[in-house]
Amino acid sequence: MPGQKRLKTAKHDKSFSTVNYEDAINGGGEGANSVSNAAADPDDLRGDLRGEPRGELRGDLRGDLRGDLRGEPRGDLRFPARRAPLLTTVPELDATVICCRACPRLVEWREETGRVKRKAFREWDYWARPVPGFGPSDAALAVIGLAPAAHGGNRTGRIFTGDPSGDVLYAALHAIGLASQPGSSHRGDGLTLHGVRITVPVHCAPPQNRPTTAERDTCRPWLARELQLLRPSLRAVVVLGGFAWQALMPVLSAAGWQLPRPRPAFGHGTEMRLAAGEEGRRELYVLGCYHPSQRNVSTKTVTPAMIRDILRRGAGLAGLL
Ligand code: SF4
Repeated sequence: MPGQKRLKTAKHDKSFSTVNYEDAINGGGEGANSVSNAAADPDDLRGDLRGEPRGELRGDLRGDLRGDLRGEPRGDLRFPARRAPLLTTVPELDATVICCRACPRLVEWREETGRVKRKAFREWDYWARPVPGFGPSDAALAVIGLAPAAHGGNRTGRIFTGDPSGDVLYAALHAIGLASQPGSSHRGDGLTLHGVRITVPVHCAPPQNRPTTAERDTCRPWLARELQLLRPSLRAVVVLGGFAWQALMPVLSAAGWQLPRPRPAFGHGTEMRLAAGEEGRRELYVLGCYHPSQRNVSTKTVTPAMIRDILRRGAGLAGLL
């Protein structure tokens, strides 16, 4: 079934409006998902900037975003570092990260992919923007992947949605009771997560699924802020793959958790408990898990059962089971 039809249906699905970044894109009306609007379309966010019921952006931030939407900081490498610390809620973060154009190579790739499309998805209007995290703002468990897939998250606008990796991940989350359904095909499919939030250290689809270290570092302030905002509820993190592991360590350290020395290398099943570092704050468990990429799964480097076991362990440590 052509994806475009599903997307249009999704716009009127009540469950579709539960995340603020969805409000942001729906404010622009029909065509808000189109690739031609991929560059932080002012129409998309105008609804938010006018207020109710989308009035959650603070006044100074609204002013800042108006500037962004006029185009001044596009391609500004400092955009994430300047903007992320100002955000005070996860929905605000979601609504802001989708405006980011800090990495020229990734902006070009995500938009080019959305224009050219894969034959099987030629009727889709690709998202072709940064893909925000997905899941509740008070999650006890975070799952951290790598980056959106060119024809997965970059097409559908939701992380791990519409690609084989997501099929494995969401099936595992559903099996342990943390996802409302095993499949994840598009943003309006009704999927909800319970106690778990999925995010990535790089929010734009990279060529060959390989962001550069410079792109990872440019994107880091979004992840750092997201984890800071989740911190009051966060008890455990499952890290999918070595790239995410490397990306996460400085973020955790900067957020005040005490990392062991030497830092453990990534491995499937690696587990560490980080002291809170500050009185009154709780410790954090960090677990390594192979990424459920198509290659890892097809070579049986990782199996659905292995993914499920690590997620179950993380959910248990987070107090969700
Ligand atoms: S990868 Fe991150 S920092 Fe770079 S453009 Fe995308 S959202 Fe912005």
